Amino acid sequence: MEGLLTRCRALPTLATCSHQLSGFVPHRFHYCVPGGGRRLLLSRVFQPQNLREDQVLSLEGRSGDLTCKSQRLMLQVGLIYPASPGCYHLLPYTVRAMEKLVRVIDQEMQVIGGQKVNMPSLSPAELWQATNRWDLMGKELLRLRDRHGKEYCLGPTHEEAITALIASQKKLSYKQLPFLLYQVTRKFRDEPRPRFGLLRCREFYMKDMYTFDSSPEAAQQTYSLVCDAYCSLFNRLGLRFVKVQANVGSIGGTMSHEFQLPMDIGEDWLAICPSCSFSANMETLDVSQMNCPACQGPLTKTKGIEVGHTFYLGTKYSSIFNAQFTNVYGKPSLAEMGCYGLGVTRILAAAIEVLSTEDCVRWPSLLAPYQACLIPPKKGSKEEAASELAGQLYDHITEAVPQLHGEVLLDDRTHLTIGNRLKDARTWMNLENIILSKLTQEQKMKHRIFSLIGG
Ligand SMILES: [Zn+2]
Repeated sequence: MEGLLTRCRALPTLATCSHQLSGFVPHRFHYCVPGGGRRLLLSRVFQPQNLREDQVLSLEGRSGDLTCKSQRLMLQVGLIYPASPGCYHLLPYTVRAMEKLVRVIDQEMQVIGGQKVNMPSLSPAELWQATNRWDLMGKELLRLRDRHGKEYCLGPTHEEAITALIASQKKLSYKQLPFLLYQVTRKFRDEPRPRFGLLRCREFYMKDMYTFDSSPEAAQQTYSLVCDAYCSLFNRLGLRFVKVQANVGSIGGTMSHEFQLPMDIGEDWLAICPSCSFSANMETLDVSQMNCPACQGPLTKTKGIEVGHTFYLGTKYSSIFNAQFTNVYGKPSLAEMGCYGLGVTRILAAAIEVLSTEDCVRWPSLLAPYQACLIPPKKGSKEEAASELAGQLYDHITEAVPQLHGEVLLDDRTHLTIGNRLKDARTWMNLENIILSKLTQEQKMKHRIFSLIGG
């Protein structure tokens, strides 16, 4: 197949051909073909792994300590790699999936008026001392000192930082409110026992949103809007979730809900009423409570993993930092706040945990790292002549379906059997979606030889 293609070698390193400019595909990783197409070749990108369970355990420095399914699968196929206890390298397929997840989150947050910010991870101790959380957070807060002896923590959450920021906006008017400010950044928590891979680690990505409203009523409305956006997100991802009432914990405030994905390895116990809409984290209930407080029917218990958390904060933080706005009467008034978290890396791992089989990764289709993969015949096989057709099919697909731009791989590792490459394809797509391509009547002979996978 290579003979047919002209590699873009004619151009100096920093120059780009028109295909590169239009698609931002790095020079080294693509071939230009006479028709002007572009092919993403698997042999030139990160290779999937096929590690055995014992290899995974030794990577993690564990002996016989059972890891959960998502952690094992993600390590086995090369989606993550351990860096230190509770810290992982996110490898290219995972980053693609995460970027897709962040895009879906951005859409949901922006529909309700969210504006994106980006705050430093390094958070000065004074901010946390002002709310007393420097002491309250205890050992979970990852603390450090700079060369001048000034104390910081690596932020696990940013209520202090954002409230101080809003307090610095001296001319804030009620007309500008509500403010819905959010970011997707790395967060840190000094977990005593990091485990379950990306489900409970020390460094992770979170989407955290902070809202500022001019009245408690408006803040309640914002609270419902954000909860609805979270429901919409999990529905779009095809993940079964429950929204339960929750404790406010160290964040504080007066009302809180968790978004939980029911699963056996979950660390929270949830009580759900099958007869009405009541559901709660068990820690909010009396130990002896067996019946639904709303309809008195019996409650069912299930385990879940928390993937989202919402808090109505009132003026708990705005009163400390004096985050004010000018109200409709021209007088200063404290902002009513809410804060809302989504565990971004946790959602990825939790989705794999609930959707995958024991030996095959399954992604939510919106997040699969690639949407399609073409697998040409093995080199030296009697179908080899059809390789050219596979390339053409690739070009047709990417040209005819603009949404597939950058989403289709050509698995040109033709020294491997189709079966082995199909097995690898589980790393970046949902194997349930295998479609053997239907070719024309004349190509019927070759019908079996293309494996087009995709949704
Ligand atoms: Zn009930």
